[in-house]
Amino acid sequence: MKTRTFPGGIHPRYNKEISIREPLRDMVLPKEVIIPLSQHIGAPNKPLVGKGDYVMEGQVLGKSDSYVSSPVHSSVCGTVAEIAKKFHPALGFTMSVVIETDKSKSPGVYNETGAHDLAPDVVIGRIKDSGIVGMGGAAFPTHVKLTIPDGKKIKTLIINGAECEPFLTCDHTLMVRKTAEVGKGIELIMDIVRPEETYIAVEDNKKAAFFAFQKAISFSKRRAIRDIHLVIVKTKYPQGGEKQLVKAITGIEVPPGKLPLDVGCLIQNVGTAYAISEAIYRGKPLIERIVTISGDCLDKPGNYVVRVGTTIREMLECHGIEFKKEPKKVVVGGPMMGFAQPQLEVPILKNTSGILFLSDDIAEDRKEGNCLKCAKCVDVCPLRLSPTEIIRNVRVKKWDAVEKLYVSDCMECGACAYSCPSRIPLVQYIKEGKMALEKRKR
Ligand code: SF4
Ligand code: SF4
Repeated sequence: MKTRTFPGGIHPRYNKEISIREPLRDMVLPKEVIIPLSQHIGAPNKPLVGKGDYVMEGQVLGKSDSYVSSPVHSSVCGTVAEIAKKFHPALGFTMSVVIETDKSKSPGVYNETGAHDLAPDVVIGRIKDSGIVGMGGAAFPTHVKLTIPDGKKIKTLIINGAECEPFLTCDHTLMVRKTAEVGKGIELIMDIVRPEETYIAVEDNKKAAFFAFQKAISFSKRRAIRDIHLVIVKTKYPQGGEKQLVKAITGIEVPPGKLPLDVGCLIQNVGTAYAISEAIYRGKPLIERIVTISGDCLDKPGNYVVRVGTTIREMLECHGIEFKKEPKKVVVGGPMMGFAQPQLEVPILKNTSGILFLSDDIAEDRKEGNCLKCAKCVDVCPLRLSPTEIIRNVRVKKWDAVEKLYVSDCMECGACAYSCPSRIPLVQYIKEGKMALEKRKR
């Protein structure tokens, strides 16, 4: 089978072998959860509970009247200990509901509800009420993404099973161990957006996931499912980026400033498909997920089912995970786009794909040198931007020039910074440029 890809990109050390063959470990109820009221892109939620309230697992803790928003639910039964600003892995301090778990209550059991043949708008409503957001990183509300604006049509639906970030294997685990459930979620998405063609894209280092899907597709009784194209994309970073998948699969380049939707494409992550299936067929809101715990410091790396709101420290304690080496850096997410954490009292969120504990051997200090004009950053940029030109203009605050270089298109994948021999923190400069342009607009 032909392996597809996009121009540019990099080949970092993948380190997936650390966790990929470990068993999927079951959830252990934490003694406390910290649930940020907003875990999505869009309008913030208002709290619906107060200090001292007893809440049930799955109860809505916060919601907003805005369409572009997503409610949050309690991941445990317990008592609200406080509603206060708590540390969020990407945003600093945000309003959160802290719940002391009632350990006398067993975790909920979610059986098949028999909710089949629902109209697409009913399914979209349930996806919204279940708090489902993009699980592949950005946490954009899924009900908004699946509501195709008037005048637009989805020609190509792409299910993203690339998982191109090093170390992470949670999507791989899901694809191999929950193939049927992911498949049911894909069917629901297909019924909503009615694409002309559907692709499932898996990187060529995930053969087990490829074969699991191949089997599921060939045994399906439904014609539309048997017509799904299962494709192998090259193991290359950032192969899982939306525009990179569109290019690899359809050959279409999404123009600067445009979205995949503008060229008739919609991308959904395999984790989101699974969450949709759980919400519709089992009535389970998004209160837990699979998280990759990896790096070179742990005695028990692997993939763990974790309740949303569990802190990193508690997650380690619940599972008896110990350090065999002192971590120099703790990262939430992957090493390319993740966020370094100053502490372990940080909650795992709906879009937390991994937590990495990296020692001195991996987390090197990067001392910035002068630009050598080598253009390596330009060669690897998957969006054909010119990072070196952007930073030159950011440094002298020439914002018009920065804008003309399409800085707002940059997806902050970090491929340019990874390739830079002078270790210039290019993404930091790019973020500075984006922020300056945002301020100018206000
Ligand atoms: S971070 Fe931005 S500029 Fe750098 S390679 Fe990625 S998309 Fe290109
Ligand atoms: S890779 Fe680094 S040193 Fe080379 S041109 Fe880009 S910014 Fe300059």
